[in-house]
Amino acid sequence: MSVRVRIAPSPTGNLHIGTARTAVFNWLFARHHSGTFVLRIEDTDAARSRPEYTDNIKSGLEWLGLNWDEGPFFQTERLAKYQQAVQTLIDNDLAYPCYCTPEELEEMRETQKAQGKAPGYDNRHRHLTPEERQAFEADGRKPVIRFKIDSDRNIVWQDSIRDTVSWQGSDLGGDMVIARAADDDQPYGQALYNLAVVVDDIDMNISHVIRGEDHIANTAKQILLYEALGAEIPIFAHSPLILNSEGRKLSKRDGVTSIDDFRKMGFLPEALVNYMTLLGWTFPDSTQEIFTLEEAAKEFDLERVNKAGAKFDWDKLDWINSQYLHQMPADKLTDLLIPYWQDAGYDVDSKDRSWLETLTTLTAPTLNRLTDVIKETSVFFADSVEHTAEAMDLLTQEGVVAVVTEIIAGVNSADTMTEEDTKALIKQVTKSRKVKKGLVMRSLRASLTGELHGPDLTQTWLLLNKLGLDKARLQKTLAKIAD
Ligand code: GLU
Repeated sequence: MSVRVRIAPSPTGNLHIGTARTAVFNWLFARHHSGTFVLRIEDTDAARSRPEYTDNIKSGLEWLGLNWDEGPFFQTERLAKYQQAVQTLIDNDLAYPCYCTPEELEEMRETQKAQGKAPGYDNRHRHLTPEERQAFEADGRKPVIRFKIDSDRNIVWQDSIRDTVSWQGSDLGGDMVIARAADDDQPYGQALYNLAVVVDDIDMNISHVIRGEDHIANTAKQILLYEALGAEIPIFAHSPLILNSEGRKLSKRDGVTSIDDFRKMGFLPEALVNYMTLLGWTFPDSTQEIFTLEEAAKEFDLERVNKAGAKFDWDKLDWINSQYLHQMPADKLTDLLIPYWQDAGYDVDSKDRSWLETLTTLTAPTLNRLTDVIKETSVFFADSVEHTAEAMDLLTQEGVVAVVTEIIAGVNSADTMTEEDTKALIKQVTKSRKVKKGLVMRSLRASLTGELHGPDLTQTWLLLNKLGLDKARLQKTLAKIAD
């Protein structure tokens, strides 16, 4: 059997982390089996669907590297197919018009509630006589179309992730609406999700339906529709939901949920897909947590997807992102950092490329996210720096004035400094002032950056020296501590 899978997002919002993770599993499964990955846009909800969300979904999938082989197909371009399916079901007496008004349905639900019964449609229009139908029509009522659900049926399937799943027909809420009431010259109104999805999955020869476990009840209904339409039932796999730290489904209330948000927060696409793969799946060698999509695809199987919900762990995502950032070549990382520097108003344009790449190399080990670079490199773009209280404590220690004075003299006597120059000067000051080397180095760092901690001191100094900023900062420090 050739593997054909799909991702079928509704363009009613930006690409969501849950949808993206489902896309990751489908993509991995397709690639593992040299199969086909289809993109289908389920845009039948005209009131909530927007073309800009379709664009966002497509660009988000592309950014993550989840290329699709066919599509995008749009459900709004396939409405005639759904009409045909409704007709077939009616012709075979598997579906029928229901004329209930919203008020009648509401009243029915209230009665069920009062009797302590689960709410659902009581199939009251399943057996209307032609005369009764005509009377409703004459009354101007527009029917929805309902598909008959046998409440005695036990629907069972072998789920590739959850093993045997069974669902009682009586728990599906009664005969289900498959088409809304007609509001134009079409014989039936807009087809609803369960019917459209089945018609499409049949038409597109989908072999495996891999989606979130929130669709399990839909799967039970859809299996009945496959049978009714005389089609082969695909293999189903329901992946665990992504949970927040309290164990509830990750939602907008947890801050970020769209892939765009993660991009803006400074996550790399390769790190994010790596992390999403781990949300429910483990590499055969479970100690291997950093891998490319291609590496994961070689090993991917549905059997090793967890049944339990996957907790979203920000620390883990940060760690994975940091691993990618730390390994990235400086020229590539510099290209990625430039927009963040520019957004922060840092003057990048006046800097030469090798200066920027050296700064990248110097600060890369401190980065978890691309956005961290703004804070981590601020002292290199600032005109001047303020000293922290801690730095001032150090700078006001005995002997520091003389140390700083002598460093200034050394810097003034050189044009631009080399690594050897900086080392020689530190050595010379240590010797002549008869102080510990550590004091000289801390005084230097505090003068140059205003802080006592930071990346490699020599590299920091050389970068500032190239901009001529070291002299000014040493002078400013001296002026502050000399009196
Ligand atoms: N449009 C549905 C959703 O976004 C698709 C579900 C499915 O994969 O069948 O949840």
